[in-house]
Amino acid sequence: MRQVIVAGNWKMNKTVSESVEFVKELQEGLGFDLKLQVLVFPPFTSLYSIGRIVDKSRIGFGAQNMYFEKAGAFTGEISADMIKSCGGEYVIVGHSERRHIFGESDEVIGRKVKSALESGLKPVVCIGEKLDEREAGKTEQVIERQFYKAFEYVQEDMIEDCVIAYEPVWAIGTGVNATPEQACEAHDFVRGLLEKKYNGGVAENFTILYGGSVKPGNCKELFEKNGVDGFLVGGASLKVVSFLEIIKIVNNMLV
Ligand code: PEP
Repeated sequence: MRQVIVAGNWKMNKTVSESVEFVKELQEGLGFDLKLQVLVFPPFTSLYSIGRIVDKSRIGFGAQNMYFEKAGAFTGEISADMIKSCGGEYVIVGHSERRHIFGESDEVIGRKVKSALESGLKPVVCIGEKLDEREAGKTEQVIERQFYKAFEYVQEDMIEDCVIAYEPVWAIGTGVNATPEQACEAHDFVRGLLEKKYNGGVAENFTILYGGSVKPGNCKELFEKNGVDGFLVGGASLKVVSFLEIIKIVNNMLV
């Protein structure tokens, strides 16, 4: 069974008190029959405080990044165990901002996925092409390369703890989302890669999220597409009202 997920990536937003207030308000708003997994990804500084107040039966949480080493002289980095010690269960790996602003390579992302899984964190692995790559007809080539590098060290017994977020870079924070057809095409391609590397059962049960300018006004048509199993939301996850609206729209579409 594929798990449907609506996740919020807060990026470099919200102080500790703002984060706590947000989670409390969100929790209050989730007082209905919730059929999907809600996740929030606050900045590192808010993880511990959120861990103390969150009702994990309603909201899961994790970090936006981590380093692959366990400990040591890596100034500015945090480890999977540190995230876990705050109560976090997930980690975003390979977000396009990590790849393109901070220069993270496919190799580094593969090592992070491995380290997250070995420590018992569930990685949400982001993949997606840039605009020039799409325009050059290289979308599938880019996705395939990122996929194989990210899951290079992941055997079949670990893959079920992973989630993939297809996030075309040109759609992130731009207000221009992929069309449902473009999202569907990319998700089908990723599912095909999962089938090739693992097997049909893994591919069938695997959660693939779409991310890139998702908002209450476009989530219904995107979620209607087969193979879109939820969303990784940036901008629209920063306000309880819009995040909750997306959650409710998707939840109402589930039987
Ligand atoms: C993101 O940061 O993962 C994202 C999808 O951002 P936005 O929804 O703002 O495009």
